[in-house]
Amino acid sequence: MRKGICHLCDKEKDLAESHIIPKFVYRWMKNTGGQYFRTALNPNQRIQDGLKNHLLCFACEQKFSKYEKWFADNIFFPHLQNSSRFLEYDENLGNFIISVLWRRLLLNKINGQEYFEKVFNDWKLYLDKKTVLQNDKIHLLFLGDIWGEDSQPNEFVHRYFTRATDTNIAEIDDDIIVFAKFSRFLVFAELNSNKQNFRGTNVYFEKSRFPFAQYIDNGKISLYFLDRAEKVFNLALSRISEEEQAKILFEINKNSKKFWNSDAGKSVISDINNEVKPYTVDEKMKYVCDICLTSMNEPEGHLLRTYEIIQSQKYWKFIFSKNSYGIDKEGLQQRLDYFKEISSSPTPWIICDNCISMFNLKNIDKNKAYINKWISTKGKFKPNKCGDFRNYLGEEEIKRIPGMIAGIN
Ligand SMILES: [Zn+2]
Ligand SMILES: [Zn+2]
Repeated sequence: MRKGICHLCDKEKDLAESHIIPKFVYRWMKNTGGQYFRTALNPNQRIQDGLKNHLLCFACEQKFSKYEKWFADNIFFPHLQNSSRFLEYDENLGNFIISVLWRRLLLNKINGQEYFEKVFNDWKLYLDKKTVLQNDKIHLLFLGDIWGEDSQPNEFVHRYFTRATDTNIAEIDDDIIVFAKFSRFLVFAELNSNKQNFRGTNVYFEKSRFPFAQYIDNGKISLYFLDRAEKVFNLALSRISEEEQAKILFEINKNSKKFWNSDAGKSVISDINNEVKPYTVDEKMKYVCDICLTSMNEPEGHLLRTYEIIQSQKYWKFIFSKNSYGIDKEGLQQRLDYFKEISSSPTPWIICDNCISMFNLKNIDKNKAYINKWISTKGKFKPNKCGDFRNYLGEEEIKRIPGMIAGIN
């Protein structure tokens, strides 16, 4: 037990040991890989659990634990079990992310480094006293399992993106973000910018759901993380002694079959099997179809408005079969929820040249012209008639839609 001033509530109390990256992440790493962890800065020391510091009193630590438990139960394990991205969430997700990122800023403050005082204090007041949040541009990106088809820019990409834990404040292309990367998740906040670098990653402080497609629309940000993978592992390799390397091999060989079948083993195999080839930033804009998630380069695709999307029977058929929404009571409710959620979507839809055949458009050249304009404005252009479909359809058409949605089999 150690007495001190809690960094969140500023009261003098007994302080608890706290992690930046939650404990359940380390538990997951142990259950799916090795028994010990090593840090890049001090790889010669095996640790049982992530790095800990005496930062918070028990009451404040308890508050953060609640957010962590919510995240573990509702996002972390459900996503890792079936790669599901279309997860529902509420304000607990934002609270969890802010609590993690705030601790990262706190570490900088303690170490006498730049800690973005304004954001730090805003988050602190929000976490401690539930004041109105000013800096709420926070994100979650699901990182997935596969990195590069058969080549990758360095030999550590899979190990980094699927397994490693890492937090930092990064300055990339005039943008500053604070991030925490763990397991197959990247959570981050924009500290200074209004650029639209991210699609589908925004986290809102209300009941919501992640959209189908997520991506970073700035090659330099992707490049930063790919480069980070190499730096972190190379740093560890440059510092680890031969004796400790032998210990790692010994641990693996104790039950090598088990290791190579584990998630950790598989990520190493993916790294070994992929060819190492440099990655170059392609200035061409890349984006993903909002329906089938196919990647596109400019000038592929079309831009559609919500009222154009929801009229298509083929579209609904695709979505319902993809999500297995049947026509029993539960299925119909899920269909209705989905419909409610997207039918007022204020942003335009990017549709690939394949999925466009689902739609019966009066003037498809116009939708093509829209995507060209969207590309030339780096994603800022919004055609008119975006938003709630009810404003742009006649009464008869509006009445027809619920019947159509319920009737698709
Ligand atoms: Zn406290
Ligand atoms: Zn598509």
